[in-house]
Amino acid sequence: MGDDELLRRTAELAADYLRSLPERPVKTGMDVAELRRELVGQLPQRGEDPRKVIEHLADVGGRAAVAMAGPRYFGFVIGGAQPAALAADWLTSTWDQNAGLYVAGPAASVVEEAVGQWLLDLFGLPLDCGFGLVTGCQMAHFTCLAAARTAVLERAGWDVISDGLFGAPEIAVVVGEEAHSTVLSALQYLGLGRRRIHLVDTDEQGRITLEALDAVLERIPEGQPLIVNLQAGNVNTGSFDPLRAALERVQRRDGAWVHVDGAFGLWATASPELRHLLDGVELADSWATDAHKWLNVPYDSGVAIVRDSDVHQRTMSPPHAAYLEYGQERDEVAWVPEFSRRARGFPAYAALRTLGRDGVADLVGRCCSLAARMAGQLAGADGVQILNDVVLNQVLVRFTPEDGSDPDEFTREVVHRVQEDGTLWLSGTTWHGMAAMRISVSNWSTTEADADRSVEAILRCAQ
Ligand SMILES: *Cc1c(COP(=O)(O)O)cnc(C)c1O
Repeated sequence: MGDDELLRRTAELAADYLRSLPERPVKTGMDVAELRRELVGQLPQRGEDPRKVIEHLADVGGRAAVAMAGPRYFGFVIGGAQPAALAADWLTSTWDQNAGLYVAGPAASVVEEAVGQWLLDLFGLPLDCGFGLVTGCQMAHFTCLAAARTAVLERAGWDVISDGLFGAPEIAVVVGEEAHSTVLSALQYLGLGRRRIHLVDTDEQGRITLEALDAVLERIPEGQPLIVNLQAGNVNTGSFDPLRAALERVQRRDGAWVHVDGAFGLWATASPELRHLLDGVELADSWATDAHKWLNVPYDSGVAIVRDSDVHQRTMSPPHAAYLEYGQERDEVAWVPEFSRRARGFPAYAALRTLGRDGVADLVGRCCSLAARMAGQLAGADGVQILNDVVLNQVLVRFTPEDGSDPDEFTREVVHRVQEDGTLWLSGTTWHGMAAMRISVSNWSTTEADADRSVEAILRCAQ
């Protein structure tokens, strides 16, 4: 079988899977023992027929796949893959460009320029910010916080790019106690530590309080290099830190850097109805977000944005290697912690162009309305409590059993039953010491019927 036929067959298998998405059970169809039996074994001595390999993969991978791209997946904060983004992703692999240098993939470089400009415009951020397309928000944090480290140390007379952290002035790092774990990972990779940070207390929705921020800032000597992380979109409640007020407080201090974790929350800037939640966000120094979440681009697609593009570029540029040809064009290696890399601008480009400004606003708004609809229906049922203010696309639900037994245990049991049931998928969490069910609505294809059918299934599982 020639390449042509193999690819046509693969497209057919992919289309079959996509067609099955709305109705297939939203859980894996295989356990780990079966998967190992099917997939693990001796490396074959002789190569096998490509068609057989692909058909076997499509069969096993497809049966095992969790219908995460489908309309009733409400776990974590995931997002599906819009058709045009998926199609562009196929082309990305087909072209197989090394999107590290302009000369290694000219269209990839220019498409990233376009995506960068569109995103800055969409988010309402200054158009001359630096930006890089990375694997996910964790690496976006890493990129932004690395630039922050360069800048705050430079202001203290220290060149971290050349001399590293040995003997450097101490940086104070301030993080809300509800910060996402990936912020702490990024700080750890950067030599800033996970534990030595100053934690800011949060309120019942997971937002830092200004009193707590003031108290923390008071303990940090004026003039000490300072990095503050704020959150736009709490992973459990969807809540936003009081961005403008917090930014104004921090920026009263000389040389401080404010980074915003907007993994999914930053997309709310695209919606005229929701934008007020992020009032002041444009005052920050750097922002991290994900296109694989709310833009519904296939994995992997994170975005790092840095106001000071010079610091951003100096921090990420590899030292010159004689064989690299840098030009006047955009060489992506200068903006990301990668060297050889996937041309991940193409799917994001296709997603943005097919949605347009209105389409992104609509996608975000629709997910939030569906979250509110589900929360409203669930709240009307006996023994069901919504734990958060549903300001975005996240809902926290708690179940109290009629027989008076432990609500924590019962809530976990309901989550487990829902996962087994397969109508939808969601996960559990602990919120302020209480077990809770998390619903995250982040998929372009979820309809009101999907939301209603999911609420029915949840309530059935809670009986
Ligand atoms: C998902 C998420 C992250 C991490 O993003 P990845 O793309 O998984 O690295 C960080 N912060 C928040 C608030 C998130 O929701």
